[in-house]
Amino acid sequence: MSRASAAMGSRTLVGKYELGRTLGEGSFGKVKFARNTQSTGEYAVAIKIIDRHRVLSSHMVEQIKREISTMKMIKHPNVLNILEVMASKTKIYIVLEYVGGGELFDKIARQGKLKEGVARRYFQQLINAVDYCHSRGVYHRDLKPENLLLDSHGVLKVSDFGLSAFSKQEDGLLHTACGTPNYVAPEVLNDKGYDGTTSDVWSCGVILFVLMAGYLPFEEPNLMALYRKIYKADFSFPPWFSTNAKKLIKRILDPNPLTRITIPEILENDWFKKDYKQPCFRQEEDVNLDDVDAVFNDSEDYLVSERKEKPVSMNAFELISRSQGFSLENLFDKQMGLVKRETRFTSTCPANEIMSKIEEAAKPLGFNVHKRNYKMKLQGDKSGRKGQLAVATEVFEVAPSLHMVELRKTGGDTLEFHKFYKTFSSGLKDIVWTSDSNKEEAS
Ligand code: AMP
Repeated sequence: MSRASAAMGSRTLVGKYELGRTLGEGSFGKVKFARNTQSTGEYAVAIKIIDRHRVLSSHMVEQIKREISTMKMIKHPNVLNILEVMASKTKIYIVLEYVGGGELFDKIARQGKLKEGVARRYFQQLINAVDYCHSRGVYHRDLKPENLLLDSHGVLKVSDFGLSAFSKQEDGLLHTACGTPNYVAPEVLNDKGYDGTTSDVWSCGVILFVLMAGYLPFEEPNLMALYRKIYKADFSFPPWFSTNAKKLIKRILDPNPLTRITIPEILENDWFKKDYKQPCFRQEEDVNLDDVDAVFNDSEDYLVSERKEKPVSMNAFELISRSQGFSLENLFDKQMGLVKRETRFTSTCPANEIMSKIEEAAKPLGFNVHKRNYKMKLQGDKSGRKGQLAVATEVFEVAPSLHMVELRKTGGDTLEFHKFYKTFSSGLKDIVWTSDSNKEEAS
């Protein structure tokens, strides 16, 4: 295997963790799957990798340090747990509990809207998480579908609490131009100073609407038109919403943060209270915060380094046998219960032809294509909603006449990505090679 072998075979270690595949790319940088090499059992984690200089040079270091310390102490069943933080000379690594159930919104993308009772159950868990973090002085400020993950039992875990300061630009404005503004409260958009409590409540309302409707309450192809709709809370309900659900959502999506419903009021709301289960958990008493101090005090004493271990050579047969079913269908590759937002396929076409086909399939969908060696980034035009999508692809040579192609969503709205992926994958059908065993599995 030529240039692919180094990428596929080497091990990268950071401290005691062995880094694995990329799980996603958020507003801060990459999130990688990792394994704790010092644990006897399978100890999977997710590691968020952030540019250290950007953090240390920002005027928000103290806020970031305070919020990460608080989040390390929070052990709530619906909040993604921060296990530890580490730093190298150039990067900060936030080690998180790994959850294998994917994003909540993948469910909607696959099955459409949720039944009211199911949506209510997720909403209750979301409100519990938000309420608890607010009570500890931590606000999310960027609640959106990508931050709502599910564990393998289907329990909601809200990620990125306390990390919002990382995604702020120098001027302190929320980074909405890169993310999706659909979930952002009107007072955040006009940035006249806002209260994290009420703006998080607004985002929860948008999320509840999407869970029950299967589409967004505010959606416009043009940003200014979208902002206007959000400022006026100009939306309408689909006919299947119950009267009580409509009443609650109307009170949440109140454009005036001063009259908007509060969390204590939501907790008393009849629609919300139905089948409500109190979260049960115990607060961790003695959490060690030495790692957080070490990362932020600029000392060189505790730095870790990224080390690469010798490449392990792998031939085509080993590679194929490691991967279950290369096909365009398994966007949600469920191996060992893990859901990935990426897919791979094999092709017997030459690498250049594969890259041109990908380009041909992506361009009519409004994507700009950036090529570097055998990697491509498909980046949409930022003005439209579709434009917020980003897809990374890479072609590996497995054998002289066999290539493996990886496709991964690296940014953008989950619902949009699924729409894009359907059209895109049908444009690639004729370059995909399927082994006989895979054909049998599929049939
Ligand atoms: P974020 O930067 O939190 O938006 O993360 C980007 C993507 O990485 C998410 O949308 C998830 O798909 C994935 N991800 C983030 N954290 C985890 C985690 N702890 N476990 C599994 N997947 C994760």
